[in-house]
Amino acid sequence: MKIETNKSHRAVIYCRVSTEEQTLGGSLDYQEKECISFAQRHSLEVIRIFREEGESGRSGSRTQLNALVNFVSLRKNDISYVVVLKVDRLMRNHIEFYALETVLQKSKVRILYVLENNENNSNGKLARGISGVMAEYESNVNSERTKAGNREAFLSGRYIKKLKGYSFKINPLGKKQIYPNEDARYIIRGFELMAKGIYSQREVLTILKAEGFNSYPQAFNKILHNPVYCGFLPDTQGVNNGEAIKGIHEPLISKELFDKVQDIIDGKRPTATPRKRNNPSFPLRKFIRCRKCGRFMTSSFSQGKLKKYGYYHCSKCTSSTETRISKDVLEAVFLEYLKSLNIDNEAILWLQETVIAVFRNKTKYLEQQRRALDKDKKELEEEKSRLIHAVAAGRITAEDGSPEIQKINAKINEKQILLSDMVDSLDVDECWNFVQYFLNNLAEIWAKADLGLKQKLQCLISPEGFYFEEHLIKHIKTPYFISIFCSKTRDFKSKGG
Ligand SMILES: [Zn+2]
Repeated sequence: MKIETNKSHRAVIYCRVSTEEQTLGGSLDYQEKECISFAQRHSLEVIRIFREEGESGRSGSRTQLNALVNFVSLRKNDISYVVVLKVDRLMRNHIEFYALETVLQKSKVRILYVLENNENNSNGKLARGISGVMAEYESNVNSERTKAGNREAFLSGRYIKKLKGYSFKINPLGKKQIYPNEDARYIIRGFELMAKGIYSQREVLTILKAEGFNSYPQAFNKILHNPVYCGFLPDTQGVNNGEAIKGIHEPLISKELFDKVQDIIDGKRPTATPRKRNNPSFPLRKFIRCRKCGRFMTSSFSQGKLKKYGYYHCSKCTSSTETRISKDVLEAVFLEYLKSLNIDNEAILWLQETVIAVFRNKTKYLEQQRRALDKDKKELEEEKSRLIHAVAAGRITAEDGSPEIQKINAKINEKQILLSDMVDSLDVDECWNFVQYFLNNLAEIWAKADLGLKQKLQCLISPEGFYFEEHLIKHIKTPYFISIFCSKTRDFKSKGG
């Protein structure tokens, strides 16, 4: 990669942990390290590092990203580059991404990716687009694997979700399992106090908090309703005809106590489920542009006599009926449009190279994380055995040694859990087959995909959206447009149109 010589070499770094990596400890530090060494390799001067820590990374509020944009927009800071690990650190949806890119371009700031192709042409853009779609596909595959893993765990009586009062350890069969921890006594006491029938949930929680328990009303209510504490795993996936299974973990309370508490608090179950902001009923929302004003269209349901009818419409041109399209019509036309797209045969060869390169980077990243975890674990084990020897030789008293050994054991356990959570890497042929299958079956895949993959796909084909005109979908021809797709006809007409 060439760094333009007429620009400053000042850069900032942005790190964020994606949802799939929440469990991979230290990955923020890893990202930072990789970004710094990338900057060094390209003689960039790192002025500031923006780290999206904890909640702000997960919830998507991303205060650090905003701070970064403000920082680089100020001319006095004279920043030319933003260094990030991978495109998915920034691109969670196309609107966010292009808004960001536009703002950065205005300040003449370029984004550089440590693990992606950095070419500023359509090849580079395609590579990054494909990388985003592959990440989405992988997370779909992983969630399938997770589902299968959950089924297996449930049927064998293993509870594998995080649960207050328990910690994960690796059981003698090498599987993740819950074991009571220091919070267990508060939970036992909570059930016992509730069973007296004289305290409200809030009062019990106040008592427990005064004794050192850390929780809040909604979470405590969930605890009191959770049969896992009396040793039973509820059949939430419907794999055992809805019947609970006896768990292999150590219960904190008896079934009798649990049932008694249920009787006391019955009828007070909260039903709050948060509404999804991103609506899966309208995948083309914010992708199709209004033919009159060019704004992205929004969507809504209107109540008919027998059923609800979905519409896409422009939020500005509300008075005009021509900018209101039925959901069914628009999505059918869009599907036909996808069917009409072909891959340019000449593009296939370099596409294959791109995919293999993307794949190599991904594998490298996973392997590095696995190796780092392995190394940490080994070092901890060595430290532990040194301590044990020191105690045995009388150089340290058992009193001084054993709390240290316990601490190390806890750390080893933590690393082991992280290792057992890591997914096996995908195979390169599998990946390439998928990309080919994917490009040849866009319509079918789009129809079956969940919202996230649908949006990534749409974004890959036409990152800046589509126009809909009189039974006709038009993609937007911008420098971003990905040239591997050639439509059979120049613009696609629906059968009815
Ligand atoms: Zn409009």
